[in-house]
Amino acid sequence: MTRIQLLSPRLANQIAAGEVVERPASVIKELLENSLDAGAMRIDIEVEQGGVKLLRVRDDGSGIVQDDLPLALSRHATSKIRDLDDLERVATLGFRGEALASVSSVSRLTMTSCTAGADQAWQVETEGRDMQPRLQPAAHPRGTTVEVRDLFFNTPARRKFLRTEKTEFSHLEEVVKRLALSRFDVAFSLRHNGRTVFSLRPAHGEQEARRRVASVCGPAFVEQSLSIDSERSGLRLWGWVGLPTFSRSQADLQYFFVNGRMIKDKLVVHAVRQAYRDVLFNGRHPTFVLFLEVDPAVVDVNVHPTKHEVRFRDGRMVHDFLFSTLHRALAAQRPGDQPGAEG
Ligand code: ADP
Ligand code: MG
Repeated sequence: MTRIQLLSPRLANQIAAGEVVERPASVIKELLENSLDAGAMRIDIEVEQGGVKLLRVRDDGSGIVQDDLPLALSRHATSKIRDLDDLERVATLGFRGEALASVSSVSRLTMTSCTAGADQAWQVETEGRDMQPRLQPAAHPRGTTVEVRDLFFNTPARRKFLRTEKTEFSHLEEVVKRLALSRFDVAFSLRHNGRTVFSLRPAHGEQEARRRVASVCGPAFVEQSLSIDSERSGLRLWGWVGLPTFSRSQADLQYFFVNGRMIKDKLVVHAVRQAYRDVLFNGRHPTFVLFLEVDPAVVDVNVHPTKHEVRFRDGRMVHDFLFSTLHRALAAQRPGDQPGAEG
């Protein structure tokens, strides 16, 4: 008879890693979210071989105090929530306290950090969690650098699922773009194999925001889109929607953020599609960069480990608001409806 045994913490982490760490892009997402949660205003990303060989994220955020460094790599260890109340109105991107534990269980991870006022930076190092995290003094300005090397070096089965360097990098770049759209005020740079892919300055005000959207989504999108900004019963929707003439054959230029968190949600997709229904040909996809701002208490982000889905308390109201705002904006744009087209 086979007896029941508790999994070792290492194996438990590796299994959990399967949920959130699928490829380099998922690692970068977690690292960037941590940097933003730490209040970083500048984030520099360095990638080698599509992120499989190396991922390095350096930020100028709050940093982590020496004693907390090894803890940051443990499972269910977070500084972001303490109780259920916090969970119900979570304002940070992370809160599960799982990402670094998962990533460090399937890579060689080094984290170097310095807090304001500390006279010394510290570095913690692990290798697939076969060892206790090693802590040593280091040099680093205020902020944190996380270096992830040799992703899946100890889990060959997962490594096999990785695609070509080019494909992995394009997934990763997409994640960086999303986060760069979610925070106009933060500077982002991305380098791949020693080459600068982009370098985005902080954007303040409408003009600079447009410029950032143009850098990320291409200038044609900004030129051929409508600006939206609408508010109703505690909901605000703003951003840009592509003109029907700027549709795509794939749904690859669609960014929707709820309180700064990029989501892919059925309700949202449905509302947008409905709004475009009369103005788009079959098989064409609308383009948009939209930001929905709602009271955090009316939206639940703890639905899925990757937090791509959300649950609105009043989904119907959100749907109606999205649909009517976009429908109105698009209708006003139809040639026959334009004031100038009449005379
Ligand atoms: P979570 O983000 O869900 O809390 P993580 O495993 O991603 O869990 O991170 C664990 C903890 O490590 C965070 O709660 C935070 O305190 C700390 N941390 C991670 N990355 C950074 C960073 N770049 N700057 C400051 N603190 C960080
Ligand atoms: Mg996190």
